[in-house]
Amino acid sequence: MAFKQIGVIGAGTMGNGIAQAFATKGYAVVLQDISQPALDKAIKTIAGSLDRVIKKGAMTESDKSAAMALIQTTTDVTGLKGCDLVVEAATENEAIKVKILQAVEAVVGHDVLIATNTSSLSVTRLAAQLQQPKRFVGMHFFNPVPMMPLVEVIRGLQTPDAAVEAIVELSKAIGKAPIVVKNSAGFVVNRLLCPMINEAIFVYAEGLASAQEIDDGMKLGCNHPIGPLALADLIGLDVLLAVMNVLSDHFEDPKYRPAPLLKEMVDAGLLGRKSGRGFYDYQS
Ligand code: NAD
Repeated sequence: MAFKQIGVIGAGTMGNGIAQAFATKGYAVVLQDISQPALDKAIKTIAGSLDRVIKKGAMTESDKSAAMALIQTTTDVTGLKGCDLVVEAATENEAIKVKILQAVEAVVGHDVLIATNTSSLSVTRLAAQLQQPKRFVGMHFFNPVPMMPLVEVIRGLQTPDAAVEAIVELSKAIGKAPIVVKNSAGFVVNRLLCPMINEAIFVYAEGLASAQEIDDGMKLGCNHPIGPLALADLIGLDVLLAVMNVLSDHFEDPKYRPAPLLKEMVDAGLLGRKSGRGFYDYQS
């Protein structure tokens, strides 16, 4: 399956990184979001990110121009019509995703694969909402997308081998390292990672140490490249809470209970880097 034009839905933290990852490898991208400001911000973010790559000497100005020219933006889902793959990376909310996926299916050709970048929702259950569940697969990137090599390719119960293989091959073609994972809440990496971050929030709320000390502890004691609270800010506290809620609902095991402070920070709009403040302040 050769992909030429790829639709990316959602121009937030993940969508802009996914668009960048495809465009820098020569794929035409249609980046769609309901919010024009989100699209404008995404284009600025991608340009800034490519400038940093140029500074490191890993890309030229003309490579950047070529990549930027491959990205079109639209607020209209019908703009995805000519795409031969659509990767959905919109807000982590099942009702929103189902609405988007059904709208996409009504617009694209019958043989077009639709992938979701969901962090935690059931690929099997999302697939079941489509007319053709066999066209659906999980393509789970990691944040920040341009830097992180992993893609979890998630096989829903209805996903055929050909769809899994196509996404594995595409992941390799854009320089990523895919692992194939069976559908289950949180898949593999978030099932392990998010409860660890959630526990760090309990530790912080209990006043055992400062945010910096907790993060230093895991960096210096466990060789983690980034501490759990800084990582929570990078992921987005709303996204983290959504993942914990999915794990908690799915497994019905109290070990996945979201930290009350996480809920309160989300209620307060302290979402991490994207809102300017989370466990750390990013405004100054
Ligand atoms: P985000 O909040 O940064 O961005 C979401 C974007 O979706 C926003 O720009 C919003 O305007 C857009 N959107 C909302 N409804 C829409 C609609 N109906 N049509 C089109 N666009 C719509 O979120 P994010 O962190 O980029 O997460 C996106 C997806 O990626 C989620 O499923 C999340 O679980 C997953 N994910 C996130 C991370 C992470 O670290 N943040 C990592 C891996 C996967």
